[in-house]
Amino acid sequence: MNSIFSLDQLTRENVKQLVPYSSARDEFSGNGSVFLDANENPYENGVNRYPDPLQNELKKRLTQIKGISPSRMILGNGSDEVIDLLFRAFCEPNRDNVVICTPTYGMYEVAAGVNAIEIKEVALDENFQPDVQEVQKAMNEYSKMLFLCSPNNPTANLYNEDKMISLLETFPGIVIVDEAYIDFAPGKSLIDKLEKYPNLVILQTLSKAWGMAGIRLGIGFASEEIIEILNRIKPPYNVNSLSQERALDLLDDEAKYLNQVNGILKDRVKMSEFLASLSCVQKVYESDANFILVKVDDAKLLYSFLLDKGIIIRDRSKIAGLENCVRISIGTEKENQLLCESLIEYNSKS
Ligand SMILES: *Cc1c(COP(=O)(O)O)cnc(C)c1O
Repeated sequence: MNSIFSLDQLTRENVKQLVPYSSARDEFSGNGSVFLDANENPYENGVNRYPDPLQNELKKRLTQIKGISPSRMILGNGSDEVIDLLFRAFCEPNRDNVVICTPTYGMYEVAAGVNAIEIKEVALDENFQPDVQEVQKAMNEYSKMLFLCSPNNPTANLYNEDKMISLLETFPGIVIVDEAYIDFAPGKSLIDKLEKYPNLVILQTLSKAWGMAGIRLGIGFASEEIIEILNRIKPPYNVNSLSQERALDLLDDEAKYLNQVNGILKDRVKMSEFLASLSCVQKVYESDANFILVKVDDAKLLYSFLLDKGIIIRDRSKIAGLENCVRISIGTEKENQLLCESLIEYNSKS
C-alpha cells in the first residue's frame, strides 16, 4: 500500500468542478432505432454516425484478452493521448512537476512541455534500471506523476519489479508504467497489481505487437476512480469509428498476433547474435522488446551508410548515456536480411 497517496488531493480543482460534455449518444438509454438527436447526415455510408464515446464493444473484447473490466480501462487516440490526459487531469501548469527516468520515451517530456509542467530527470543506473533512491531524492510535494517505461524505449530492457513496487509504495503521486512493449518481454505485466496500488496507471497499446500503429489505439488501465476522471476530460469522440471497427476485426486473430510475436522474438535472437559478430559493433544490449539497442564505432556514419541503401534506423547517439548508440527495429525476415547484407558491407569498410 501507499499511505500518502490521495487521488482527491491530486486531481486539479478545475477538473473536479468540470461538468463534462454530454454527447447526444450519452443521454439516452434503451434501444433507439430512429436517431434524430445528433444532427448527423441520416443517409448510411458506413461512417455517417458518431462513434461510441466509450467504445463499449471494443472494451468488452479487450476485457476478454486482458482480464480487466471496462470500468478500469480508458482508450485513447494512441497511448500518447492517454499520457496527455493524465497531465491535464493531475498536473497544475507552471507549478507541478513529473519525474522521468532517462534515457526514455520522448513523449513524456513533450507532453509535459505542452502542459507547462516541469520535468525532473533522474538517470537510469548503469544497468538501465530506475534508481529508486535518486527518484526519491528528486521528488517533492509538487511531483504528481512518475513515468516508468518497462520495457524501456530506447534501452529495450524490462525494469526490475521490486524497484517498481518500491516506487509505487513511496511516490506521492501517480506512477505510470508504460508497457508498450510488454508483449515481447519475458516478464509479466504489472496489471495484476492494479488492485493493490490505487496510484498505478498502466499504459499499453495496439501499436506495436498487435500491428495497429496506423489506427492509433492506446489503452490505459487504472482504478475506476482514475478512469472516471480521465473520461470526464477526454474529447467525447476520441476514438473514431473506423479505428474501433478495425481493432475489433484484428483482435479476433489472436493466433496471428502470437505467431508474429514469436517470429519477432526468434528474429531478435538471430539479429542480436549477428550484430555481436560484427567488428564495428561494440555492444549489443539485452532486449525485452521488438528492437535492439546497439553501440557501434560511429553511429552517424552507420546511420548515413544505411540511409543511402534506403534502410532507416534510429540514431540515438545524441542522447546522454547513449553515445554511438542506434536503435534497430526487428523487421520481416526479408528486411532483416537486407539489413544484414548492408551491415556486412559497412563492416568490411570500417
Ligand atoms: C510506441 C510507444 C508507445 C505507443 O504509443 P501510441 O501512441 O499508442 O502509438 C507508447 N510508449 C512507448 C514507450 C512507445 O515506445
